[in-house]
Amino acid sequence: MSEFTPVLLAPSAQVGANLQAWLAGNGGLGLRRALSDPAAIIPLLRQADLRGMGGAGFPTWRKWAAVAEQPGGQDKYVLCNGNEDEPGTFKDRVLLERSPHQVIEGALIAALAVGANQLRLYVNPHQRASLASLREAVQQWRQHALWDELCGALGRPLELHVVESSGLYIGGEETAVIASIEGGFPFPRSKPPYPAEQGVDGRPTLVNNVETLANVPHILRNGADWYAALGRGQAHGSKLYSLSGDVLRPGLYELPMGISLRELVFGQGGGMLLDRPFKAVFTGGPSNTLLTAADLDVALDFDSLRDRHSSLGTGAMIVISAGTSIVRKVAEYVDFFAAGSCGQCPPCKTGTYQLSRLLRRIDTGSGVTKDLRALESLCELLPGSGRCALVDGAVTVVRSSLEQFGDEYRQQLLDYPRGG
Ligand code: SF4
Repeated sequence: MSEFTPVLLAPSAQVGANLQAWLAGNGGLGLRRALSDPAAIIPLLRQADLRGMGGAGFPTWRKWAAVAEQPGGQDKYVLCNGNEDEPGTFKDRVLLERSPHQVIEGALIAALAVGANQLRLYVNPHQRASLASLREAVQQWRQHALWDELCGALGRPLELHVVESSGLYIGGEETAVIASIEGGFPFPRSKPPYPAEQGVDGRPTLVNNVETLANVPHILRNGADWYAALGRGQAHGSKLYSLSGDVLRPGLYELPMGISLRELVFGQGGGMLLDRPFKAVFTGGPSNTLLTAADLDVALDFDSLRDRHSSLGTGAMIVISAGTSIVRKVAEYVDFFAAGSCGQCPPCKTGTYQLSRLLRRIDTGSGVTKDLRALESLCELLPGSGRCALVDGAVTVVRSSLEQFGDEYRQQLLDYPRGG
């Protein structure tokens, strides 16, 4: 792979809560540029094609523009979503712990761009080191002259709080974050209305992931062309990949958006553990279509993976080698979804439980042939039955594993024949 210099994980950004060290390494320049021409911020993000790094890959500028367009003179909110709780995803907590200033600076620029006077940094309470680092960093920003300059540009004081999330997986869903900030249980809500129009307490609200906001100061400082040049092919920017599973060197990697799966696993990741053959990867976390050895040369970017009916998601890549049971892995992840269902939508609550029960039966050798048919039926019935994407995610991974590793399920039933 050609030379690539990390941006978010650059040594100059790994300064912990030390604001002076961040500013000495060119931190703060992005906010200064934003303050010099606030109207140019959103067009610049559009030109850069920054996408949401929390899962959906939605164009960031569109969300920002939708909140900026709402009438002024009312509270507007920016929520930095650091609830991160999905299996295999561990990027945001590293950013918050080691490099909180780029996240805060990005959030301050967001507040300026959309005219928000309310800013909340929403963090998983299990990540104690991230919380401590972020709280200390916030105190330092409040005492810096740039803070006063920002409030002056906003025309009113900025209220910033670090808020501990529920720590529940479902609490990271955009509308669940809003419900939680309002003081309630993090129940996802139906959309529309969208948060840009009616978010926290009915006010215009922007919700962005930690990694998304961390990119913003760098784009403001270096420009859209610089950001585009970081990526490969049509893909812009860099991406944090949480690489785990059966690889020699698991870890958090910042690499160009658009590198191939092969480069990630066999280059950066050092190849397969114990030289076992590659079998599959749960891409973007455990709720997307599995990629197999036939997909090793796919580009890891939002559009290329969408074209394969999969998703880059959060950038989590959980690698599975031959010899690891797909049925068991899928059962583990569906257990996670079943436990995480908030119970508002009966098809989700009972459907994920049924999926989990059937998978466990098959995995433990007590399944029967009709269990397989029942799994397939649930995969037909459940999609679209929930207010949020949890149930669809559980179905996607089950259906994908049935389509690509159906023989493994059937072999499991043959190995433990019980009729049916
Ligand atoms: Fe809750 Fe599931 Fe409905 Fe989402 S789909 S709101 S997790 S019950």
